[in-house]
Amino acid sequence: MKTIKNIKHIFDSQPQKVGDGFVGKNAFHPQNSLPFSPFLMLDHHGPMQVLPSIRPKGVDEHPHRGFETVTVVYEGALEHRDSVGNHGKLFKGDVQWMTAASGIIHEEKHEREFSKTGGKLEFIQLWVNLPAKYKMIAPAYQEISSDKFQSKEIAEGVTVRVIAGELEGLTGAAKTFSPVLLADATLLSGKSALLLIPENFNLSIYVLKGSIKVNQREAIKAGQIALFEIQGNSIEVLANEDSLIMLLGGEIIKEPVATYGPFVMNTREELIQAFEDFQSGKMGTLVN
Ligand code: MN
Repeated sequence: MKTIKNIKHIFDSQPQKVGDGFVGKNAFHPQNSLPFSPFLMLDHHGPMQVLPSIRPKGVDEHPHRGFETVTVVYEGALEHRDSVGNHGKLFKGDVQWMTAASGIIHEEKHEREFSKTGGKLEFIQLWVNLPAKYKMIAPAYQEISSDKFQSKEIAEGVTVRVIAGELEGLTGAAKTFSPVLLADATLLSGKSALLLIPENFNLSIYVLKGSIKVNQREAIKAGQIALFEIQGNSIEVLANEDSLIMLLGGEIIKEPVATYGPFVMNTREELIQAFEDFQSGKMGTLVN
């Protein structure tokens, strides 16, 4: 039975700069992420114009423990190196799903050739929490090229692509440790669609570009994120103009969250341990 899933609250994102190469917005971060569980952070970098540089800009090496980082590229190119030995390049449409788990050190930069020529850059970075039992497993890395994702036009002018989980009969190529739905959708101006969301999923919709009207009531514009009620399974989206949106859904992880900088654990003691393990070199060093 279809029941409307209503908006609980709409949040504005805040301006944000990360490292020397990423400028954009932050919709939420670990300290205020509780309503968005299992998601911990959403950064929307760009759209920005990267000026030509011989030295690729971005974020120098830094650690993570206790969760996953997910990078979705919409324009431009990124390059990644980490302490496990992964060295990846991400182009338009590609997704990197990095399970930091027990600990990883990585750097995130403009891709070398893209850096030389410069150009438009736009990407999303999400942090996805891990259930306690997976926080200390070995790190893992999924680099998924754009052609591996299923997408379809679910209504005239509305095309959905699923990155993780299931939506509209599509299955995302990314594997997750708890039930997660991550998808994006492009909507042409004036077009609408009904989205059926799995029952009991915590869901939010972030608007990257344009503006949409939800359930014939609230408008959400670029840079805003709408958080929905748990109850209900259907959402109507109507594009007020050409729009690009991201759907973030999943089962709430009902465990305490302790956060400090790049670490997200369950207790303060575990955070101290993470910091000590990083300081003493137990998370390794960059290779390749
Ligand atoms: Mn990072």
